[in-house]
Amino acid sequence: MQLVKKNVALMDAYVPGYQPGRGERVVKLNTNENPYPPSPAVQKALRDLDPRELRLYPDPVARGLRSAIARAYGVPAENVFCGNGSDEIIGLIFRTFLEPDGIVLFPYPTYSLYRTQAELHDIRYKAVETAPDFRIRTADYLDYPGQVIVLANPNPPAGTLLSLAELGGLAAAWPGLLVVDEAYIDFGGESALPLVARHANLLVLRTFSKSFSLCGARVGYAFGDAALVRALDKTKDSYNLAYLNQLLAAAAVNDYAYMEETARRIMAGRESLREKLAGLGFESPPSYGNFLLVEHGRLGAALIHRELARRRIFVRYFNERRLANKLRISVGTPEDMDELLAALRDILAANGC
Ligand SMILES: *Cc1c(COP(=O)(O)O)cnc(C)c1O
Repeated sequence: MQLVKKNVALMDAYVPGYQPGRGERVVKLNTNENPYPPSPAVQKALRDLDPRELRLYPDPVARGLRSAIARAYGVPAENVFCGNGSDEIIGLIFRTFLEPDGIVLFPYPTYSLYRTQAELHDIRYKAVETAPDFRIRTADYLDYPGQVIVLANPNPPAGTLLSLAELGGLAAAWPGLLVVDEAYIDFGGESALPLVARHANLLVLRTFSKSFSLCGARVGYAFGDAALVRALDKTKDSYNLAYLNQLLAAAAVNDYAYMEETARRIMAGRESLREKLAGLGFESPPSYGNFLLVEHGRLGAALIHRELARRRIFVRYFNERRLANKLRISVGTPEDMDELLAALRDILAANGC
């Protein structure tokens, strides 16, 4: 008798970027982490932690954190949901809003976890091709039947951006749920948050991982109609967010100005990197994320990826359709970028480019 469910046995596991051991000296540009430390307020919250608090179960609905988020964004707390990373919220969306015979639509290419979660929940999906320049064409989604659309905005791996007019138009025309994953919105995009009050079918996802430098804490949040939030509260694990992580995320969002300042540095770094890479013969579409999707005119991505890894510089190589000759490079500190550029000059020269 087969012990593992059929859909789980058949699916591929989600493939995360390579995580080197802690303390290893590497230049890590493969998982879009923030190269700057979290706010000093997060350090202080850690220092002030009373370990006796850990005896108790955490607040099941993270009231302190939800109200800190509500305050920072100027929305009612009943419109805020918190999860163990936005990855958990993506899983909960499948559990909460998709019937077994429902269909979820998302772009190709995009964050590959959407597909993994569809397979895990045995839900049918349609991956809608992006335009040749990787832009999402919202009108295309209305051609398909479905219950839920999930769009990342900006959309990895290229970092293309949809306008509020496009998203508002889609929310109005689409009868089902529209999920906009704004993991990278702080790096130069315009948030769909103001649309939440007008569209009861819109859920906006955010994370503390990227712009708030808290990948390690695993805290995501979502904005939506109170009915959507109440439904998610039913399907989440009872204590889905650790006490410590609730505390650290609240400290981070209360220091909103710090996040904005680091995001500005990353955006400046992104533009400077794009220009310098262009000087070396790399093309990349304009990106609104903390990463660039690049392709060299003459040297293959697989070789560059391998040669960089040999020098302990890690970037992301997706060996798949439409991306086979491209690399996704996260924006690091100016020092990281100098090391990357020096290594690339080396590799290009050694290969006669
Ligand atoms: C990084 C990323 C996430 C994951 O966020 P977590 O809060 O760390 O789980 C979600 N969506 C997209 C598009 C991402 O790139």
